[in-house]
Amino acid sequence: MLDRTDFIPFAAPSIGEEEVAAATAVMRSGWLTTGPKAREFEAAFAAYLGGGEAIAVNSATAGLHLGLESLGVGPGDAVVTTVYTFTATAEVIRYLGADPVFVDIDPDTLNISVQGLRDALSRRRVKAIIPVHFGGQACEMDEIVELARSHGAAIMSDAAHALPTTYRGRLVGALDDDISVFSFYANKTLCTGEGGMVVTRNKALAERMRIMRLHGISRDVFDRFRSTKPAWYYEVVAPGFKYNMGDIAAAIGIEQLRKLEDMRRARQSIAERYLAALRALPLKLPIVARTDDLHAWHLFVIQLDLDRLRIDRDRFIESMSAAGIGTSVHYIPLHLHPYWRDTYALRAEQFPVASAVYPRVVSLPIYPGMSDVAVGRVIDAVRQILLDASR
Ligand SMILES: *Cc1c(COP(=O)(O)O)cnc(C)c1O
Repeated sequence: MLDRTDFIPFAAPSIGEEEVAAATAVMRSGWLTTGPKAREFEAAFAAYLGGGEAIAVNSATAGLHLGLESLGVGPGDAVVTTVYTFTATAEVIRYLGADPVFVDIDPDTLNISVQGLRDALSRRRVKAIIPVHFGGQACEMDEIVELARSHGAAIMSDAAHALPTTYRGRLVGALDDDISVFSFYANKTLCTGEGGMVVTRNKALAERMRIMRLHGISRDVFDRFRSTKPAWYYEVVAPGFKYNMGDIAAAIGIEQLRKLEDMRRARQSIAERYLAALRALPLKLPIVARTDDLHAWHLFVIQLDLDRLRIDRDRFIESMSAAGIGTSVHYIPLHLHPYWRDTYALRAEQFPVASAVYPRVVSLPIYPGMSDVAVGRVIDAVRQILLDASR
């Protein structure tokens, strides 16, 4: 029998003594909310991306909301994204009274279908596009940028999985989109518990997002060091939000950013082991579209070849669990969730690829803290279960 301690979780954060010490130091400092650590984290993150403006927020969802708001998205506007994402990508469109226009995905990368996007843009006026760099692999950004420009639509990347990811040698966050939003949720590739970062090279968008991040308070007046007004004075210029990142989270983020390259390599080497060891089985491995680019490997998603198996995906997941291995499913496509399905009258036939992929996908554990032995156990279990169930 497996001991509880032998269980390999689906995900686990990589928090070391450096993060513990940094968080503790903030608590001892007496300044717990947004302050010097948040500014330091923003500066370090912008430097990592080679410039631009970085705006620390308390979640990627908050960042996506701020981003669309700064782009002027409002009631009745259309915003394109895919059904193959977390609901946060689409819910922020509804926060602003705008409507999502959902398109299907590419069967290999599970990223937004460029043809689907082209069709959507030809059918109606679109205010913005939200490509999701699924699993940590970049979307076809050259095509997406060209399409967006020719239709006058803005682009905000949902980069929740994409740190660090490159597209044709350039980091996501430093591409030609207008805004990119990263997540530092507990299971993401950089973790602050809860948190996120919005980046842009557009100063006007950054200014609007900074104001809206904190109650619509204008920073020029609020900045106590530069202002000629008294320290207690501030002006509210809009009904803003409460989306700032506190200094405890920021201090953790600074330490995580220092380790990002080591953590990336650890994920990469696990992915390479999976790719080599799971090759000749009744499953489809993740397809890496551009081998010269960095894949963040936030997720490692296999697609079971159900035609060659006597079990379905859910049975496979139960068997993995019985072998002491946690897995997950990314994603239940949005058109299958009651709210999205019923509000927008979505039908599975509109999304043939996402609908076909969903019953086959399983996400395997992949995170820096996984031991070689644990990776070996996952490989052995997948092999064993699939060989036993092969037709
Ligand atoms: C995690 C995630 C989000 C939301 O991130 P939070 O920081 O939890 O708000 C948004 N989009 C995608 C694709 C995600 O995976």
